[in-house]
Amino acid sequence: MSGKEEFWNMAFSKIHEKLGDSVFELWFKPMKLHHFKDKVAYIDIPNRFFKDWIDDNYPHLISEALEVELGYPVSVKMRVGTKEDGALKKIDSRNESRRSKLASRGIYLNPKYTFDSFVVGPSNQFVNAAAKRICEGPGSIYNPLFIYGGVGLGKTHMINAIGNEIVDRYPGKVIFYVSAEQFTNEVISSIRHEKMGEFKDKYRNADILLVDDIQFIAGKVATQEEFFHTFNSLYARQSQIVISSDRAPMDISDITDRLRSRFSMGLIADIQLPEVETKVAILFKKAEAERLTIPDDVAYFIASRVKSNIRELEGCLIKLGAYSSLTGMPIDLTLVKNVLKDLISEGDKPLTIEVILKAISDYFGIKQIDIKGKKRTKEIANARQIAMYIAKQLTTMSLSEIGRAFGGKDHATVIYACKLIEKKRQADENLNKGIDHIIRKIKAS
Ligand code: ADP
Ligand code: MG
Repeated sequence: MSGKEEFWNMAFSKIHEKLGDSVFELWFKPMKLHHFKDKVAYIDIPNRFFKDWIDDNYPHLISEALEVELGYPVSVKMRVGTKEDGALKKIDSRNESRRSKLASRGIYLNPKYTFDSFVVGPSNQFVNAAAKRICEGPGSIYNPLFIYGGVGLGKTHMINAIGNEIVDRYPGKVIFYVSAEQFTNEVISSIRHEKMGEFKDKYRNADILLVDDIQFIAGKVATQEEFFHTFNSLYARQSQIVISSDRAPMDISDITDRLRSRFSMGLIADIQLPEVETKVAILFKKAEAERLTIPDDVAYFIASRVKSNIRELEGCLIKLGAYSSLTGMPIDLTLVKNVLKDLISEGDKPLTIEVILKAISDYFGIKQIDIKGKKRTKEIANARQIAMYIAKQLTTMSLSEIGRAFGGKDHATVIYACKLIEKKRQADENLNKGIDHIIRKIKAS
């Protein structure tokens, strides 16, 4: 053990403090430090769900906590006990080797996100068909393809699927996959280090350019300028461009009109909210991939309670899988209702806007009338965005209804608010806890 146990224990007690009892007990307590070597902590976990969950929720938490204690950077490797299914291990290692092979060519696609693993239903069949069509002859039709849709509905999955398919079909093509955030950072750093020439050469050589979350460049003048020129030169040489966004080009405020019109030159395809049947099919597909068996009634229960976000749907499955394999209890409705009680609101009493308003008003000490009104001071706007976000999470109201209830906003503003708060929650642990607290209050009321 090389005397590192002490640091491990200290790091873990800080994590415990930070996350509170219930999260710590379920996800962290079952972990054991196996050994420590060459600045790598090898951690035993009970099953694969732990890794999935940590990767989704707190990817850097353990390594950062260890770094604080030890005073130097540490990486973490999680290892599942020997009982793990061999077939699953094989898939994992195949994905990992594909990931690193691509990364060595500078392509950071996620090997898990393919057309095969994408469930097609009425809400996304248009995007799916367009994306597949593009892979038949990149650059020759639908250029650019502009994909938009709400948070967690599969945009990143889809854009990766296109990338993975093209890598397989056309090994010689130069392909770039970046988030708009990365693109922005590269622009900034190229300007700072006077490497604009290299930057231009790099992107303008692409046969395929995939850009995720383009709404991020709103308000960023230099990045928009650079993207505009990149776009034009790629378009002129018939390179395929695929762009994703959380809203339609029309609804991205703060981008130049000439860029907006470029976005609308090819095909615009939206991913809509999934129907219950699609959600059920996605649950079964994920369950199968994880070698979990879930009964029909459980799948329907989860699918009908988790309203829109597919990432959340998967989160439920991961939590169930972890819990069931820890306790040995079968996955049935009783377990589901017990384990997912804080994720899923009871369906029988519909939640009203008034309850949310009251909770937000109590928490922030802001008058309800201001939250519902049009004032735009920082505090009020923030409280209102959180209210919209919570309304989206907990009610069945449409985006437009939510917008009307809070300051007469349009649905794009609500989408924006939801995305923003989701992001802030990930970055700011205090805010995250605050929102959890408000949600618990609302559910208890
Ligand atoms: P977005 O980029 O739109 O926020 P993601 O592409 O990250 O959403 O999707 C969130 C999660 O849901 C991912 O794990 C993705 O694999 C999964 N997902 C979304 N849509 C589907 C689908 N149609 N079939 C299977 N998985 C899906
Ligand atoms: Mg995404």
